[in-house]
Amino acid sequence: MLRIPKWLLIGGCSLLAALILFLAVPGGIKMVAAKPESVRLPAVMYHHVLNQSDMLGDYVISPKQLDEDLRYIQERGYTPVSAAELQAYVAGEGELPERPILITFDDGYKSSFVYAYPALKKYGMKGILAVIGIHSEYYSEIDDDNVNYAHATWDELRQMFESGVFEIANHTYDMHEESSPRAGVRRKAGESKADYQKALREDIGTNQQLLEMATGKTPTVFAYPFGFLDEDARAVLDELGFTMTMGVAERVNTVTRGEPESLRELGRYNRPYGVTTQSFFDPIFAEAEREAAAK
Ligand SMILES: [Zn+2]
Repeated sequence: MLRIPKWLLIGGCSLLAALILFLAVPGGIKMVAAKPESVRLPAVMYHHVLNQSDMLGDYVISPKQLDEDLRYIQERGYTPVSAAELQAYVAGEGELPERPILITFDDGYKSSFVYAYPALKKYGMKGILAVIGIHSEYYSEIDDDNVNYAHATWDELRQMFESGVFEIANHTYDMHEESSPRAGVRRKAGESKADYQKALREDIGTNQQLLEMATGKTPTVFAYPFGFLDEDARAVLDELGFTMTMGVAERVNTVTRGEPESLRELGRYNRPYGVTTQSFFDPIFAEAEREAAAK
């Protein structure tokens, strides 16, 4: 059997096809192998943005820090892209900018509406907001709009979506619990596969309906709570129409034209407080550019 070195498989099937073509050509050297067309895609994950110095931490940064981040992203020549652009690219349509980046905000906080939305607008940028349905439902029904802990209301989600600044992702209706028995969207101990998939279908499907009612569009992006993955969740996510999913593994993604699978379980870098903009972004950009150059 022909043993193919692992590094040759990194580019996936199209590179393998190119290799086979190469081997099939007499002499080989005249062959101009078609490289799979792909882009390196760093993704940043934010949570809260608050003007409260005593709350800053791993999941809370200040509006000033966010502004500096966005300015730096622009200065370094990166262009935030939408899920729709990425989905078109992997389907073989449309182009992506030379240095794409994905900007995401998890959990659907009101602080995304109050701080992140105007900041992205200011720079003409776009992002993805991953919403936990039960919280947005709750804060849409009660009279408590404290930005320190409230979540965005349906009306705020609609405004952000209609502006074109934010695409809305599904972050489960009520499965955003880190500890057992379930831990995010994982299968519980002793739960049958059928029961597990039914529970997911109900929860995530409920959020799909609520978000569709709020914005007029059914989400196509799913963010795994805490990045907890489960192989048996995939079939349900496919069934519910998700063509892009995001985890929390800190790595730069490679997105390949003609390979929709390359939008599965995208890695994202969590942006904590207490690190300067440059020391956070420089290693990520170096990684994205190093591998892009090595293609
Ligand atoms: Zn989350």
